[in-house]
Amino acid sequence: MEGRAKQVVIVGGGISGMTLAVALRRQGVAAHVVEKARPEDQLGTGINLQNNALRALKQVGLLDDCLAAGFPWNSVVTRDHKGHVLDERTLPWTLEPGIPGALGIMRTTFAKILADHAEREGVDISYGTTVDKVDQHADGVDVQLSSGESLRADVLVAADGVYSPLRNLVFGTEHRPFYAGQGVWRYTVPRPETLDGFTMFRGPTGGAVGCLPLAPDTAYFFLLESSVSPIRFEEAELASALAERLAPFEAPELRDAVAKIDEGRHISFRRFDILLMPQPWHRGRVVLLGDAAHSVTPQLTSGGGMAIEGAAVLAEELGRHEAVAALSAYGKRRAERVRTIYDNSLRICELEKDPTSDGSESVKLFVESFKLLDGPY
Ligand SMILES: Cc1cc2nc3c(=O)[nH]c(=O)nc-3n(C[C@H](O)[C@H](O)[C@H](O)COP(=O)(O)OP(=O)(O)OC[C@H]3O[C@@H](n4cnc5c(N)ncnc54)[C@H](O)[C@@H]3O)c2cc1C
Repeated sequence: MEGRAKQVVIVGGGISGMTLAVALRRQGVAAHVVEKARPEDQLGTGINLQNNALRALKQVGLLDDCLAAGFPWNSVVTRDHKGHVLDERTLPWTLEPGIPGALGIMRTTFAKILADHAEREGVDISYGTTVDKVDQHADGVDVQLSSGESLRADVLVAADGVYSPLRNLVFGTEHRPFYAGQGVWRYTVPRPETLDGFTMFRGPTGGAVGCLPLAPDTAYFFLLESSVSPIRFEEAELASALAERLAPFEAPELRDAVAKIDEGRHISFRRFDILLMPQPWHRGRVVLLGDAAHSVTPQLTSGGGMAIEGAAVLAEELGRHEAVAALSAYGKRRAERVRTIYDNSLRICELEKDPTSDGSESVKLFVESFKLLDGPY
């Protein structure tokens, strides 16, 4: 079709940017990724990809390598603080053959799979580079890079995360990420053999520690922490602060993990800053993708999945319509699904902070959300 995008510049080589780049190359569209970090800057925590994310990865030809490198799982086990099993259930997905309910994977491993596919498909990647200036014209966008190079694009994609400098440059700063009142501890450990699905350990007086397998030999424990204003920890105090928080948990897997806490394994604390940009998600030929458009609290472990789905949908629409019409079609297709997942994630986060909540509304929201995610994107 006359006017379809042939050259796309993507700012941000994270989950959404790289997935989009691979999908576009497979459609014969030239893709150039501009990424601020260098490959060696990647951090070592994990991510859980729900079934919808895996379906979208399959659509763009990335699933097999992810399945081979991660840890597929289908069951959720709830245990008490001593490790006794309280409940066990399988994920509610309508499974396509060959696609598990979910997949835990190291972020570094996932990033390498995406980058390797992008390079193999002929995506141009400028690492250690940012955008200095954007000039939109009726028939294209001029992008001036920090390296001094200039690129001409039919479409420019802001896939540069929740704090998106490109969004600020083009859309202004009226809508900014805000603190959702929670953060999460993450601690990467050798996978305890007894934990082969998603496991929640309930604390003796409230709270919970989750465990997600990431590879046959790796898992991470995570622990949510609420606070009215954002809290920060110095690198040197992370290990002792986490050990203190894990102390009430007597399950052997957690005691073992606490005993190894000084071995220098990756520990991080990250606060949740979230944002849902109002529609439309494009200004002329510049469009928002992934966390730059919608960053959710991680209760439904769906931010990355939404980003991957978004990349698959944007590539599809760019293959169907003239460039600007495609951006509009992409935003309209994503709006309602993304809003529901954003609202439900935030509501569950709020209920977790409410001592009077009996958990029933959260369960209802989980069920409702998984039903939605199980459907088409
Ligand atoms: C604690 C936590 C746990 C989470 N757990 C899960 C989970 O289990 N499952 C799930 O699906 N989601 C999860 N998420 C959400 C998920 O991580 C995000 O939704 C996902 O990373 C969004 O991908 P993205 O590509 O849009 O943004 P990002 O992954 O943030 O990538 C943005 C990229 O842009 C680059 N960049 C930034 N600024 C510039 C610039 N100026 N120029 C060029 N490049 C730039 C960055 O270096 C980065 O590579 C979690 C989020 C948090 C905070």
